[in-house]
Amino acid sequence: MTSQPTQQIPGVYHRKIGDIVVTAISDGYLDGSLDVMRNVDLAEAELLLKAQFRPARRTSVNAFLIHSKGRIAIVDTGSGNYLLPTAGFVQRSLAAGGIDPKSIDTVLLTHMHPDHSAGLTDMSNGQRLYPNAELVMHENEPKHWFDDGAMAKADERARRLYFQAGREQVLPYKDRTRLFAGGEVFPGVTAVPSVGHTPGHTAYLVSSGKNQLMIWGDTVHVPEVQTAIPDAGMAFDTDLAAAAAARKRMFDRVASDGVLIAGMHVHFPSFSRLRRKGNAYELIAEPWVHAFE
Ligand SMILES: [Zn+2]
Repeated sequence: MTSQPTQQIPGVYHRKIGDIVVTAISDGYLDGSLDVMRNVDLAEAELLLKAQFRPARRTSVNAFLIHSKGRIAIVDTGSGNYLLPTAGFVQRSLAAGGIDPKSIDTVLLTHMHPDHSAGLTDMSNGQRLYPNAELVMHENEPKHWFDDGAMAKADERARRLYFQAGREQVLPYKDRTRLFAGGEVFPGVTAVPSVGHTPGHTAYLVSSGKNQLMIWGDTVHVPEVQTAIPDAGMAFDTDLAAAAAARKRMFDRVASDGVLIAGMHVHFPSFSRLRRKGNAYELIAEPWVHAFE
């Protein structure tokens, strides 16, 4: 008798963008209720989930590698051991993909929330998990999360999980941090600030020749609901109205251009296109694509 499999092979998925290879790396997922949603009728949100056969809110957590010009960047680092046991698998996925974290020379952060920046440092020994990497993010991120005044105004959970976790995770990179306001931040990668979810929340546009990929960060957290109701936001949006405006700008841009998108909370491996559907949108996942076609 042979035994049946009980676990997935860790999530690694390559996608070629011109001369660049982008690799989706699964950190796992976070399940929860819809109570964290804002500016949406929760009964309606629940119906939208049900219509897509989702029993509850499942938030995929992804990071992405960018292999460009002989260098490797990672966009976000997953949640480390700060959130739920169903997430925190970036290191395991990297190992399965044959990627040595020492070979990653740049960490691009979309923003300093624990499902993005809490995989930077191993807090059991204070060591950087990307020992040779420069940490790159929008200048507004550390400005906000290191602001004691802003921290004092936050509730206990936000103080601990956002401000404190963010600070302790990025501090070991203090002397190797590069802040930007926009522009090209890695070969073939342009920062597209999309602020609102956090003060420095940034998408990254990967371009090579005519090929493009918009890694849109946290434009959505519950894709089924927010593509249908773009005003719907999250309790942890720093500025709900600005986040909704940024979401609508991003939706309009990628739907008009038909550009391939990937997102930290679009179901793994997340490569999709956004289609207009009346006043709303719909994400169409891309079928399995051989990386090297
Ligand atoms: Zn997030």
